Amino acid sequence: MSFDPKIFMEKVKAKNTGESEFHQAVEEVFESLDTVLDKHPEYLEAKIPERLVEPERVIMFRVPWIDDAGKVQVNRGFRIEMNSALGPYKGGLRFHPSVNLGILKFLAFEQVLKNSLTTLPMGAGKGGSDFDPKEKSDNEVMRFCQSFMTELQRHIGPDTDVPAGDIGVGGREIGFMFGQYKRIRNEFTGVLTGKGLNWGGSLIRPEATGYGQVYFAEEMLKANKKSLEGLTCLVSGSGNVAQYCTEKVLDLGGKVVTFSDSSGMVYDPEGVNREKLAFVMDLKNVRRGRIKEYADKFPNVEFMAYEKNADCNPLWDIKADVALPSATQNEINAKDAANLMKNGVFCVSEGANMPTEPEGIECFLEAKILYGPGKAANAGGVAVSGLEMSQNSMRLGWSREEVDQKLHGIMKNIHQNCLETAETYGVPGNYVVGANIAGFLKIADSMLDQGYV
Ligand code: NDP
Repeated sequence: MSFDPKIFMEKVKAKNTGESEFHQAVEEVFESLDTVLDKHPEYLEAKIPERLVEPERVIMFRVPWIDDAGKVQVNRGFRIEMNSALGPYKGGLRFHPSVNLGILKFLAFEQVLKNSLTTLPMGAGKGGSDFDPKEKSDNEVMRFCQSFMTELQRHIGPDTDVPAGDIGVGGREIGFMFGQYKRIRNEFTGVLTGKGLNWGGSLIRPEATGYGQVYFAEEMLKANKKSLEGLTCLVSGSGNVAQYCTEKVLDLGGKVVTFSDSSGMVYDPEGVNREKLAFVMDLKNVRRGRIKEYADKFPNVEFMAYEKNADCNPLWDIKADVALPSATQNEINAKDAANLMKNGVFCVSEGANMPTEPEGIECFLEAKILYGPGKAANAGGVAVSGLEMSQNSMRLGWSREEVDQKLHGIMKNIHQNCLETAETYGVPGNYVVGANIAGFLKIADSMLDQGYV
């Protein structure tokens, strides 16, 4: 019995029509797995590949809410409960107008392997809505979150499914959703992670994805006898991941020269310092403004508005050493990848999920630069969510140092595991294959143990 990724993908595409991001994520993983699957006919007999791409459950629901003008609005809510072989479903909620079934299935599928890599007991899920929190009042966001949770609460629970944040879902939204869950179910449990510190949240959870992404970059550099000190970094996005990624780069002596949002990018050749970072945090987390204001506020900063249908992103065409994509999927195409390397970038650590298109990944792998794929490099966020669940179960809280130390240890382990697995499978230095195979093996063996479910 042998595995043909081409035939497998044809079936996946036929069964999941129009879900291009899901196809992309599945293809990227199964392209790496043929050697493993050839060695393990028992996985094929048990239909592990077919079961991995079929969510255990997909929940889709109507979310009606009333806006400030008194008008009824209707959005669509989703929760993909993808795989529970390793623990309760775990993964973020995304609120963004682009959200659809295919995007959430790609994210849920990535989450399966990512959560496996963390070594923590977490299954995988993802959810969200096509609701756009931009330019909504706090009360509108609250009403939406309450309506969303009124349905979602039937399907989740601290031992069943534990959502967290993602794009458009931060501390404010988690708070509103937690409040509604508690009100309806009359129980105070760790049903969401990313909670406020006063009511069950973990220290370092807001920082975790960005810090972890930089720890991963540092490990890749260390394995090549280099360090982040003095290196120039390109960061995309300006939300949760981008902010704390920048903070950690500053801690480690590197320089960040860019930020972006969906309207454009800023280039600050002098580099972001703590004061400028504090400005971005206030701009994005409190005032909820646009990144252009950074260029209005600080001297010698260039703002470039993004053009619709441009064939490349100017953010990736700047002289630098390290790229830290932290905005969204498919933000680096083949041309961007070529521009990055032309400008001297030799290390890419992904904070966003699937930010690089397949052709871009191919460029990085061919050039043999240090390339840490999202499912490994951004696993720090869900790892600390796992630690938040542990603290909630024990009803106690660890110190900042304790959580950060655990996060750092987990990122080092993930890096080592990817590196060793790549070596074992004959592709030394290829973190894509390393992450895919290492994540897959644990899931596949657990699914075998648990029978045909
Ligand atoms: P935020 O909502 O806090 O920030 C997202 C940032 O990306 C914003 O600056 C946003 O700009 C920008 N952005 C979003 N969509 C687009 C787009 N289509 N084009 C250009 N810019 C865009 O989200 P996070 O920081 O939490 O998430 C960023 C990435 O990291 C996502 O890929 C997410 O899946 C991934 N991730 C997040 C984790 C977490 O713990 N939060 C964990 C692991 C991965 P604008 O405001 O204009 O929309």
